[in-house]
Amino acid sequence: MSEFLFSEESDDNELIPETEQEFWDVLIVDDEEAVHSITKTVLKSKVIDGRKLRFHSAFNGQQATDWLRKQQDFAVILLDVVMENDQAGLDACLVIRDELQLNTVRIILRTGQPGSTPEEEVILKYKINDYKEKNELTASKLFSCIVTAVRSYHDLVTLQESQTALVKEKNAIEKMNNDMAIVTQEIAHKAQLLEESNRYKSEFLANMSHELRTPLNSVLILSSLLSDNDENNLGPDQIESLNIIQKSGKELLDLIEDILALSQLETGKIKPCYQQHSVYELCRSLIEKYAPLAQEKGLVFDWHIDKNVPEDAVMDVQKVKQGVSNLLSNAIKFTSQGTVTLIIKYEGQENSLHIAVEDTGIGIEDSELKGIFESFQQVDGSVSRAYGGVGLGLTLTQRIVNVVGGKVIAASEIGKGSIFTIIVPLNHKCSDDKSYLPANHADKKSLNDAQKQVLIVDDNSRNVFSLIQGLKSRKMKIFVAENGQSALDKLAQNPAIDIILMDIMMPVMDGNTAMKAIRASGKYNELPIIAITAKTLREDRDQALSSGASECVSKPVDIHALTKLMDEWL
Ligand code: ADP
Repeated sequence: MSEFLFSEESDDNELIPETEQEFWDVLIVDDEEAVHSITKTVLKSKVIDGRKLRFHSAFNGQQATDWLRKQQDFAVILLDVVMENDQAGLDACLVIRDELQLNTVRIILRTGQPGSTPEEEVILKYKINDYKEKNELTASKLFSCIVTAVRSYHDLVTLQESQTALVKEKNAIEKMNNDMAIVTQEIAHKAQLLEESNRYKSEFLANMSHELRTPLNSVLILSSLLSDNDENNLGPDQIESLNIIQKSGKELLDLIEDILALSQLETGKIKPCYQQHSVYELCRSLIEKYAPLAQEKGLVFDWHIDKNVPEDAVMDVQKVKQGVSNLLSNAIKFTSQGTVTLIIKYEGQENSLHIAVEDTGIGIEDSELKGIFESFQQVDGSVSRAYGGVGLGLTLTQRIVNVVGGKVIAASEIGKGSIFTIIVPLNHKCSDDKSYLPANHADKKSLNDAQKQVLIVDDNSRNVFSLIQGLKSRKMKIFVAENGQSALDKLAQNPAIDIILMDIMMPVMDGNTAMKAIRASGKYNELPIIAITAKTLREDRDQALSSGASECVSKPVDIHALTKLMDEWL
C-alpha cells in the first residue's frame, strides 16, 4: 500500500469482530468502496484509551442520515462530500447538526475535490470539526485525527453526562426545597393550631376557674362566718362540719389555683418580676407560716442561714416564695417524725441563692426521683391516699423556678428523708414594673367614729349576700349596685359613700369601666375602691389598678382580711 491512503483503491473489507468490550463507533460515509476498506484496514487494530474502533458504512448522504436516525452514539463520522450529488456530504451535515441535533459526534470531512468545497467556508457553515484532503491523509495522520476526534467526543459526552447529573441533582434539590417548604408550611399551620388550642385551653381554664371560684367564694365566706358562731347557737358537731366544709373548700381552691397556674405557665403567660427584696424577710415569712404547721404535727422546725447570704437580693420573691412553700408543705406532709429544716446558702461564684428544704420523712426511691417532677406523678397510689395531694406541686415548683432562671434539685434516701434545693440566680436587674411595689398608704383617710358607708357592686346575689353577712358586725351602712352603671348612679345619689367594693366582671358596665368613670369625674380621687376579682392573672390585677382601684383582692375573699384592708383605707 502506498503512503497515501486514497491514491489507489483497496478491497480490504474485513469487519472488526464485535465483542463484549466497549467501542468507539465510527461511521464511514463514502461512495467509494475502497475508501471504506482502506480506512478499516488502517484503523481496525487500533486501541484508543482502552477501546477499539467499530466501523459502520454508508455509501451516500441519505444512508448516513438513516444510520444516525437509528443510532445516535457515534463518536466520529468520516464524511465524503461528493457522493450522490456534489454536496451530499454537506447536506447530511445539516441534517445531523440542525435536524437531529447531534452535537457530540465529531465530523471529519474527507474530500477528494478540495477546490469545490473551500475549507474555511465549510468549517464555519456546516459545523464540522475537521477538514482533510484525501490525497494528503497518510495512515498515521488519519489515526491521529481519529484519536483527537474520539477524545474530544469523549470529553463532550463526559461533560454532557455531568451536566445531566447536575440538572438531575438541581431538580432533586428543588423538589426537596419544595417539599421542605410544604412541610414548613404545615408545621407553621400546626403550630398556629396548637397555639390557638392552647389559648382556648387557658381561656377555658381561666373562665372555669372564675366560674368555680364564685360559688366557692360564698361557701368559704359563709362557712367561715357560721363557724365563728357569733350567736352561740351551734353545737360542736355543727362547728366541726363547718370546719370540714372550710377545709374541703380550701383544698378545692388550691387545686383550681394549681391547675390554672400550670396552664398559665404552659402558655408562657407568667413572666418574672424582679425587685430588690430582703432575703431575711423572705425567710421570716416562710418560717412564720410553716413552723406552726410543722409543730402542729409534732415535728421540729429548724432553719439555718449561712453568714455570707446577702441581706437583700434582686429576685422575683413571689415566685421563689411559692416554690419554697411547695417544698415546705411537702416536707411537712411526708414527714411523721423528726425535723424539717430550711437552709439558705449563697454561692458567690455563681451569684445564686441555694434554698434547701430538708426533712426526715419517708424518702423517695432513686428510680422514682426523676418522675416526681412530671404532672400528676406521685410515687405510688397508696402514698397519695395516705398523704393527699394530686401530684402537681413539684411540677409547678419546677416550672415557676424555671421562669426566674433557676432550677430544683432533689436528693433522697428511702426511709431516711429528702432534700429539695431551689437554686435562684441573682444576676437579674430590677424590672421596671412598679405595680407590685407596696401601695403608698400615706394619704389614707383617718379612721373616725362616724358610721361608714360602703357600696358593694356585684351582679351575683350570693356574693353580695356573703359580703353583707361578713360586714354585719361592722355596723356599716351598705348600698348595693348590680353593675357598674348602677354603681355610678348610686354614687351620684350618695356622694358621701366612704368605700366601694367593686366586682370586675359584670353585665351592662364592668368594674374597670366604672372605676375609670368614677376617677375621671375628678370628684372621687380619694375614694378607696377595692376591686374584687375572680381572675388571678397579673394583667387582670394590673388592669384593675390602672383603671383606678386602690387595691385588688382575689376571690374567694377572706372576709377577715378584707375587713382589715377596709379599715386600713377608711
Ligand atoms: P403531691 O404532693 O400533691 O402529691 P408533688 O408534685 O408535690 O405532688 O409531689 C409528687 C410526689 O413526690 C409526691 O406524691 C410524693 O410521692 C413525692 N414527694 C414530694 N416531696 C416529697 C418529700 N419531701 N418526701 C417524700 N416524698 C416526696
